[in-house]
Amino acid sequence: MLKKLLCGLHHEGKDYNVANFEELTGKQQNYLMRFDDILELKEKYSNDPQKLKEELSFLNLRSHLPVILSDLTSDLQNDIGELYPKKSSEFIYELPIEDIYFLLINIRELSFGHMLPLKVTCDVCGTVQIGKKGAGIFLELDKLEYKRVSPETSRKEIVTHKDHKIVLKRRGLKEALQLENIFKDHPKDMYTYTLLLAIESIDGKKPTTEILESLTAKENNLIKEEVDKMNIEIDLNFEHICEKCKEELIYPLPILDPFFFSPSKIHTQGSPKSLYNTD
Ligand SMILES: [Zn+2]
Repeated sequence: MLKKLLCGLHHEGKDYNVANFEELTGKQQNYLMRFDDILELKEKYSNDPQKLKEELSFLNLRSHLPVILSDLTSDLQNDIGELYPKKSSEFIYELPIEDIYFLLINIRELSFGHMLPLKVTCDVCGTVQIGKKGAGIFLELDKLEYKRVSPETSRKEIVTHKDHKIVLKRRGLKEALQLENIFKDHPKDMYTYTLLLAIESIDGKKPTTEILESLTAKENNLIKEEVDKMNIEIDLNFEHICEKCKEELIYPLPILDPFFFSPSKIHTQGSPKSLYNTD
């Protein structure tokens, strides 16, 4: 299926933002069967649900999703059908994380339909509600809203008040994975590295921590503001009113849940203690 991505990639003056993807087959579902890794993490972080949630997201981002996406995405094109000159196993890592999410949602929808059944635990009263066989809680994937940006914002040049020329680029899956590694070793410098990964060059040179620190506070603020403007808004939250206590709750779409691609498992959501139970 051909579908226009939220951002796509820019190459030699052209925007490649139409992806050609297929539905999930039994072959690709084998990638999701690494339950050993998941069980190991569940054991390790049994007393820290928030950490468990993060680790499971990273696990999926690292191993399963890039492989599934490169297997299922055959090519990337521009509006007149010209192909992006790289293979999907390479360009998947260049795609912005928003496009990665967009592809995942669309592949899930193409494979199992737009109704995503969820198991939800109420944060307030603890009531568990399950979506199955046409009843309970479902999320309609085709009703999710995305705020598109124009493709040219994937790369941007700015000039600071001290005449430094800075080229910014939107972060892709590769940078998201790099940040994950950096976060392990330098949790305090996350802010600097987050900016660094969004900068292609400063006065024609590769950006470093030292160069960034030599810029004024005003210049650093400008970079941050401009980087923020390049982000795309995808609202991956949904509202639900608890059937028992009538509390209005907001849940995030479990897009990085290891079971997002399982048609039979019901996705769990809500309070952290309920996350990733898969009964
Ligand atoms: Zn409740």
